Amino acid sequence: MNEYMKETNEALLHTYNQFPVVLERGEGAYLYDTEGKKYLDFAAGYAVSSLGYADKELNDALKEQIDKIFHTSNLYYNTACGKAAEDLKRITGMDRIFFTNSGGEAVEGTLKAARKYAYKKGTGRYEFIAMKESFHGRSFGAVSVTGHDAYREPFEPLVPGVSFAQYNDLDSVKALVTDKTCAIILEPLQGEGGINAATEEFMKGIRKLCDEEGILMICDEVQCGMGRTGAMFAWQAYDIKPDIMSMAKAIGSGIPVGAFAMTEEVAKYSLEPGDHGTTYGGNPLACTAVSKTIEIFEKKHLVEHVQKVGAYLTKKLEELVEEYDTVKAVKGKGLMQGIQVTKPISEITGAALKEGLLIIGAGSDVIRFVPPLIIELEQVDEMIRILKKAL
Ligand SMILES: *Cc1c(COP(=O)(O)O)cnc(C)c1O
Repeated sequence: MNEYMKETNEALLHTYNQFPVVLERGEGAYLYDTEGKKYLDFAAGYAVSSLGYADKELNDALKEQIDKIFHTSNLYYNTACGKAAEDLKRITGMDRIFFTNSGGEAVEGTLKAARKYAYKKGTGRYEFIAMKESFHGRSFGAVSVTGHDAYREPFEPLVPGVSFAQYNDLDSVKALVTDKTCAIILEPLQGEGGINAATEEFMKGIRKLCDEEGILMICDEVQCGMGRTGAMFAWQAYDIKPDIMSMAKAIGSGIPVGAFAMTEEVAKYSLEPGDHGTTYGGNPLACTAVSKTIEIFEKKHLVEHVQKVGAYLTKKLEELVEEYDTVKAVKGKGLMQGIQVTKPISEITGAALKEGLLIIGAGSDVIRFVPPLIIELEQVDEMIRILKKAL
């Protein structure tokens, strides 16, 4: 442990299991620590740094915005916020956007938006159905719909009216529906829960159930959104549309920003002036990051790029299943994939770190691959080479 880690350990509240590395700078898909050691990054800071590191165009736009203004509050309009909202509207196909500072805060907003909709319509509905193995964040509302006992129990009692169904099991969802059900919330591809993709039948079934029963469908796209699965947003691959959605992680390429969005039909009956707010939300710096990220995504055709590199990654991971007894299955889509392994996760991630590869776990037995979306086929090969040593 070096001096920096020692000092940090004495000053910070210990809430993270950290790798013994002090990162200093990055370039493309590579990171460098304070000793100058190079790492290939297949973690992207939890699926955040979609454009990799030191993207000149993004950085120049951010610096230019800093010199103009980076905070206004929502007492006043600012041009960057309006532009970013237009851009998100276009790529989501939703009608109304609210900017937050994080994913958990975006999820909070979706839940409040759904409750307000029921309140204003006078339906008396307030219950949420969420999924087992889901992850929606750490604030009270978000943790209340998170399907892991360990994340919930120490903080009970939580928001009342939440029940948990089995992911990809429509009957288990139907069994929980009551005349008080307000919304169903799910990740179209579960991240923290172990890289579980929703089946087409499940997504379409939830949409139909919601339509029949007068329930709102909320998609949490905080991790699986913004190109990561090979669609701009994961739900777009299912030929359905949610009523409300959350996003964050990759939408600002690492500048802290999130958002939730809804259809006009929901917005008409939902949050109004005085109902909801956030001091930093929609600030010009975060919004510049969103607009610039979207611009670069479109210019570089990153969604198509993810489809191509993602297919190659699947092929390479499937070869590992053939080759290694300890690798059981390949999961996920695009550049949000994982392998199910029988060895302890921390042994593999620790060994990879020593060899210069950053990877992280998901759930209890999955190694997750969520690199910057700009990686090339050669970097998949490089990752596989190092991973084999770690396995
Ligand atoms: C990370 C994550 C969140 C929470 O986002 P924070 O920015 O950490 O608050 C919510 N939902 C999903 C699906 C996530 O992966």
